Amino acid sequence: SDELLQAAEDTVTSLEELISVSIDTSEVCRLNRDGECRISYDTALLLGKALALCEETGGALDISVYPLVREWGFTTGNYHVPSEEVIEALLEHVNYKALATDSDIVTLPPEMAIDFGGIAKGFTGDRILQLLQEEGVTSAILSLGGNIQTLGTKPDGSLWRVAVQDPLGDGYAGILSVADSAVITSGGYERYFEDEDGHIWWHIIDPKTGYPAENGLVSVTVVGEEGARCDALSTALFVMGEEEAIRFWREHRDFEMVLITDDQRLLITSPLADRFAASRPDKYHMQVISAE
Ligand code: AMP
Ligand code: MG
Repeated sequence: SDELLQAAEDTVTSLEELISVSIDTSEVCRLNRDGECRISYDTALLLGKALALCEETGGALDISVYPLVREWGFTTGNYHVPSEEVIEALLEHVNYKALATDSDIVTLPPEMAIDFGGIAKGFTGDRILQLLQEEGVTSAILSLGGNIQTLGTKPDGSLWRVAVQDPLGDGYAGILSVADSAVITSGGYERYFEDEDGHIWWHIIDPKTGYPAENGLVSVTVVGEEGARCDALSTALFVMGEEEAIRFWREHRDFEMVLITDDQRLLITSPLADRFAASRPDKYHMQVISAE
């Protein structure tokens, strides 16, 4: 119904007003500006999830990498390659562990700033699906800027078909068939710029180096139950690179993934392989990642 669609949209807007780094009055903006903020229940819930995922991914996800994201220009579109000195200086303030909470008050050390860009869309999708479910919806597909989240199957009982974009060209790399799943992709092609030397720099930053993560991956798709987790993992696994991402999957096994490498390999975890139809078998060499 129109009413329910409006409620879904309102969920996006109200979360955005709390957590967006581009809305001056948001709790995240106030925290970043004042070094302290009393946060609402929703922001606290997201912060708790985000910090747990920073920890679980060994800091590959780090919400406090934001000063570097901003310096590279990914927040404003004022793209440039910062000097090494600037990167070094900003890296000193990247450490999610330095954030402190005392009931609903969050404090940050001077110079530290956070953003939920790597996880917020998945979290928002979870909220919308929860709302729809409470209202009795049994079948839904959501797209939040490339994050796809599905509830149930299609009304006719068949699986939802979700395309994985070809990160090195137009069209699709393949199509996944899913039900009750989030399908969330982090890709170098989503937001990037080219410097004078023709080097492409994208918006996912390695918190260890302060530079965009270049570990051989050009896209990471994570499939799983919870949007927030899949969103955070897609960003973190992109930072980790192929080997570490595979090791992480083997240790956890509560999600599935598709990795696409810069040398045109498409790696897919074994349980997902028979739910994937490759669109470009000529272009991408497919390899199945086994559980051991
Ligand atoms: P996604 O598209 O979900 O992979 O998220 C990318 C966004 O998350 C970027 O635009 C930044 O705002 C933010 N970000 C970039 N690198 C990281 C990182 N290593 N940890 C947490 N957030 C990041
Ligand atoms: Mg993400």
